[in-house]
Amino acid sequence: MKTKQSIDFSYEFFPPRSEQMQRRLWRAVGQLERLRPAFFSMTYGALGSAQEVSVESAISMHHDSPVAVAAHLTCSNASRRQVHAVARQFYAAGIRRFVALRGDSVEQETAASAGYPSVAELIVDLRALGDVDISVAAYPETHPLARNAMTDLQALRDKLDAGAQRAITQYFFDADCFLRFRDRARCSGIDKPIVPGILPIHDLDKVRGFSERCGATIPGRYAALFAKAGNQPEARYRLALDLAVDLCERLNREGVDSFHLYTLNQTDMCLDISLALGASLQAPQLTSAA
Ligand code: FAD
Repeated sequence: MKTKQSIDFSYEFFPPRSEQMQRRLWRAVGQLERLRPAFFSMTYGALGSAQEVSVESAISMHHDSPVAVAAHLTCSNASRRQVHAVARQFYAAGIRRFVALRGDSVEQETAASAGYPSVAELIVDLRALGDVDISVAAYPETHPLARNAMTDLQALRDKLDAGAQRAITQYFFDADCFLRFRDRARCSGIDKPIVPGILPIHDLDKVRGFSERCGATIPGRYAALFAKAGNQPEARYRLALDLAVDLCERLNREGVDSFHLYTLNQTDMCLDISLALGASLQAPQLTSAA
């Protein structure tokens, strides 16, 4: 097990939708890059203009930050040619890391979606671009659309066998749930890293909303804990921070030495979680793409 000091962190951002959000994003990036993370990642919106903003944001981040950037890329609801063109655009801009995904379901897949039949095939095409690093998604509580836990694990295996380097999980709040999933994955022959995705709870009601859609379970005790913290922002912040740090520390004791933090483009909590886990602030660096 790595010592607390050598835990690797990666931080996920989403593309900003307004100038104000853009300022918040760049502030967050500026602060978190001083922790020398393994990489930043930029999500890729499911439809239309959000995808363009994702591409612009990932490329700007790659140019402006010294931290390696992983561009998320989804392959549902778009033709193979469209997806491949975006992959080439990222590659031409110098991005060498990808998070290869199916993408969030859209109500009706159009004819244009006669594209990649699986994420595994997208991975094959990404690898053909050159020397790339690919992460894929995994689901400790099983993807809500999966037939069952076994087929879900098989889907993960297919993606890793196709050449992805690691899996990053959907967020979860129960360490045992992750550890059982990791055991099942190991038993099924998966030996690549499975990096837990950690979501700090800035707002329990909002997290409830996301969790219903993505199938993550919020422990029953959380409602009482947040109710006890009441409407005092400091008490709620402290509680959310303690819950995230406790979860990561428990996982670290079980040999987990990399964490992927869903920042929601907010810095403070992710910074505090990382510092509590042994990360330290370093002097600012020059950009890698300069
Ligand atoms: P797969 O590996 O193809 O599927 C995972 C499992 O879900 C399999 O068991 C598969 O059979 C089942 N499944 C999924 N969809 C269907 C379906 N339509 N029919 C039948 N079975 C299905 N989404 C975005 O849009 N943009 C992002 O940037 C993004 N980033 C993510 C990052 C991480 C770390 C994670 C965990 C998720 C992210 N997602 C993102 C969400 C992800 O795209 C969805 O969960 C999607 O439904 C499944 O993607 P996948 O790559 O895991 O697909």
